[in-house]
Amino acid sequence: MPLDEYRRRRDFTATPEPGADEPGAGAARRFVIQEHHATSLHWDLRLEHDGALASWALPRGIPPDPRQNRLAVRTEDHPLAYLDFEGEIPKGEYGGGLMEIWDAGTYEVEKFRDREVIVVLHGERVTGRYALFRTDGKNWMIHRMDPPDDPGRELLPEGIAPMLAKPGSLPRNADDWAFEIKWDGVRLVAYVQGGRVELRGRSGLDMTATYPEVRGLGAALGMVECVLDGEVVALDEGGVPRFERLQQRMNVTGDARIARLARTIPVRYHVFDLLFLDGRSAMSLPYRDRRRLLEALELDGPSWGTPASHVGAGAEMLEFTREHELEGVVAKRLDSRYEAGRRSDAWVKIKHAQRVTLEIGGFTLGRDGRTGHIGAVVLGERLADGTLRCAGKAGSGLTSATIDQLEASLVRRPTSPFGSGSVPTGTTFVEPTHRAVIEFTEWTAAGTLRHPIFKALVQGGED
Ligand code: MN
Repeated sequence: MPLDEYRRRRDFTATPEPGADEPGAGAARRFVIQEHHATSLHWDLRLEHDGALASWALPRGIPPDPRQNRLAVRTEDHPLAYLDFEGEIPKGEYGGGLMEIWDAGTYEVEKFRDREVIVVLHGERVTGRYALFRTDGKNWMIHRMDPPDDPGRELLPEGIAPMLAKPGSLPRNADDWAFEIKWDGVRLVAYVQGGRVELRGRSGLDMTATYPEVRGLGAALGMVECVLDGEVVALDEGGVPRFERLQQRMNVTGDARIARLARTIPVRYHVFDLLFLDGRSAMSLPYRDRRRLLEALELDGPSWGTPASHVGAGAEMLEFTREHELEGVVAKRLDSRYEAGRRSDAWVKIKHAQRVTLEIGGFTLGRDGRTGHIGAVVLGERLADGTLRCAGKAGSGLTSATIDQLEASLVRRPTSPFGSGSVPTGTTFVEPTHRAVIEFTEWTAAGTLRHPIFKALVQGGED
């Protein structure tokens, strides 16, 4: 390099002489970072240099923290006029998609070589010293050399187990509580960073590939880093979440099959809590503050959103959910922190139960302490044509007194009393002389009871 000798002899922090190796070194030059919603979201970093814009595409954006280097792919130099460019590049054209200026400002050069660039950025969002260094061909890495802007900044956490609600009834002092609809779906925690989202189930299983329509949430949040808590649901034609619809989306593998199902049985991710935001845990904040931060993110996309939360309106919400055949309501104490992995008194779920009286047409044997005895009764619904349709079985709620009573009075028969419906395997058939009151949450599409609980035995013809 022609100026190496000149540079070697001087300490530019001490001398007022013009610095370093390039025209204008040390002087402010312009830079821009464009958020580019192309086929794959990325951020384009462009530095004014030698009459053009030296450019890198950053798939996960600018690292805010020296502990996380990020990939930077060297792209072709762009003309200086590109500093101000924002707009929609037509689909089908090179780089088709929306390009927006994410940050702009000036920068100082410390080093500008073929393999290494060190700059100090002075933008609105990004300030600090960054190194770009080439690793392989077009692949570079970008590293923040300064501490994070926020000295208390934490890295995105991993493996947060969601907080759970205790079953109960509407709390007194409703004004101390927020009420949300209870969504009948699958709980998912979303980890969002660098425009990418990772979905994890209650046990930590990676479910990102299962629900591809939720991926757009990452792009929608851009460079926001956060951890979100919510429930993925599948809605029926009336907009009511149906667990059995969602079941058709669960445990499906193969991108093509998943993509096909995503069209016929689309899901929606209802986000109801915020656990981490831009380098800070939110879990010790009270619910009302987490909720305010969550609402400020304005999540509202084709396959995700933040459903309403109403302070004090428990009775109204419970009535609303009953009318709309929703599962129930969750009450969350406004001053409660997020207790990861705990079933807490600060969250109470109030579910609607339905009751039905059905005929007992069989039983299955119990396990563990009930081995050799009745473990569950197999239930039938008497249809208008006089036949019995099997509606599944109920084991919860059976007391040993009831079991004794049933064993003393049920009369076995060799053939099935059921004319239709799916009979559980291992059923011993009995004459349908007894009836049972069953509490349950809903009928499944297959006509069986969901969450059945045995409440009472009814003998003879009267309830
Ligand atoms: Mn680009």
